[in-house]
Amino acid sequence: MSSPLLEVRDLRVHFPSGQRGETVKAVDRVNFTVGTGETFGVIGESGSGKSTLGRAAVCLLRPTGGTILHSGQDPYALKHADLRRHRRNYQIVFQDPNAALNPRMSIGQSVREPLDILGEGTKAEREERALAALDRVGLAASYADRYPHELSGGQKQRVNIARVLTLRPKLIVCDEVVAALDVSIRSDILNLFADLQREYGLTYVFITHDLGVVSHISDRIAVMYLGVFVEMGPAEQIVDAPLHPYTEALLS
Ligand code: ADP
Ligand code: MG
Repeated sequence: MSSPLLEVRDLRVHFPSGQRGETVKAVDRVNFTVGTGETFGVIGESGSGKSTLGRAAVCLLRPTGGTILHSGQDPYALKHADLRRHRRNYQIVFQDPNAALNPRMSIGQSVREPLDILGEGTKAEREERALAALDRVGLAASYADRYPHELSGGQKQRVNIARVLTLRPKLIVCDEVVAALDVSIRSDILNLFADLQREYGLTYVFITHDLGVVSHISDRIAVMYLGVFVEMGPAEQIVDAPLHPYTEALLS
């Protein structure tokens, strides 16, 4: 049997807090696996450790303990240059549409930037891939010459998705990707994620505080509370027959 795309074992991310050597256990002994093509939902209220978990899953944050395996490989066992190449496969899209966009870069430059950093292909090829990615997320080529402040939140989030798509990742952590957007356009963005998943066989870790968002797109859902998973199972089971009182509280 082949290794799951993402395997998280006994993961701990602790932050120092206060002066007396106390720690915040943002993530504490979390275990799960995500298979290729699957959508794994993580739901919990603010401060439960979701973003910390998501960042650790894509090596933006080094765990205090435990293991992250990407297709069976420990990314931290890779040499520096190999880790750089490896990370393109494991990407993240943030809640704040502005988080990854430089206000002084045109949209075209921003979408091309990750490829520029990797130095992949010629500049013309990178430009072509950026335009193709913009087109794929529903933005015409004319957007390439615009700047972030000229776009709506939803359009900027499309740009962020295009930026990640150019790398042809295997897994994307979607961290509250519609939470900052107008309610009226949330389903458009969620549908775009669903279409891209079908088209490219993408795997998602879908983080949200809103069960309504994850319930119909997730295969499995984990419920996070104060750094631990209090419940995990098939989406229907979590929604229809929650076992944990905290899950019931989130549902109501
Ligand atoms: P969520 O995304 O579910 O809102 P976070 O992962 O952002 O939760 O935060 C989980 C806990 O870890 C919170 O108590 C938060 O204050 C703490 N935390 C997160 N990042 C840091 C950090 N860099 N330094 C110290 N504490 C942090
Ligand atoms: Mg968060």
